[in-house]
Amino acid sequence: MLLRLAPTPSGFLHEGNRRNFAITAELARELGAPLALRIDDADAARYRREYVEDVFATLRAMEIEWQIGPHDVAEFEAHWSQRHRTDHYRSELIAARAHGLRTYACTCSRRTQIGPAIGGCSAGCRDRAIEWKPGENTLRVQVPRGSMIEVGDALVPLDEAMGDFVLWRRDDLPSYQLVSVVEDRDLRTTHIVRGLDLLTSSAAQIYLAPFVDADNVVRATYVHHDLVTDGEGQKLSKSTMAGPGSVKDGDDR
Ligand SMILES: [Zn+2]
Repeated sequence: MLLRLAPTPSGFLHEGNRRNFAITAELARELGAPLALRIDDADAARYRREYVEDVFATLRAMEIEWQIGPHDVAEFEAHWSQRHRTDHYRSELIAARAHGLRTYACTCSRRTQIGPAIGGCSAGCRDRAIEWKPGENTLRVQVPRGSMIEVGDALVPLDEAMGDFVLWRRDDLPSYQLVSVVEDRDLRTTHIVRGLDLLTSSAAQIYLAPFVDADNVVRATYVHHDLVTDGEGQKLSKSTMAGPGSVKDGDDR
């Protein structure tokens, strides 16, 4: 078993993050499972060292201990930053495409988007067979129409909720969805605890998982909690725990 704390250093932590840390650490303690600290900075375009300092300060103040991961900013930047692993994510993406993940390059920028968009693509790039040029255009996954993804008890209409989400960004960085599924595979995460705002991200990652051999991400136990506290020291009830996720493809037209 393994649980992880996975903050993104694109701002100072808020109450929802602290709630996530508390619930994750409590569940790890109840299960007797190790806890990892994984700072998701791969796509943090607004990275600032103060944000990572805030993560460590918050965890110290909450008296949360973890067994895997960095223990201060210097250690993080030298050895654990995901920026050191950009090539790893790129080769995982290339392997996923070789394993049948359907993708397409998109030249739309946020500024040029008009009209109905498929996950941010409004120009029908899906049908234009544009060559992917990292650093020049965006690579998107082609989500089958009508895809329904089971995330624990929830059924997420991935196509409708997220559309053809980004795998590789125009600025030549991996997307959060790609990094998160690869990292959870590499860590062998068994329990994924997230705010409810990330339910569609969980669905996106369960969709990607089979293409990157991340069976554990499909089989993981998912807990999606709301982001406001309901008073102090709330305990995780068994009813908030969800079972494994699974994929149900819609027909792909
Ligand atoms: Zn496009």
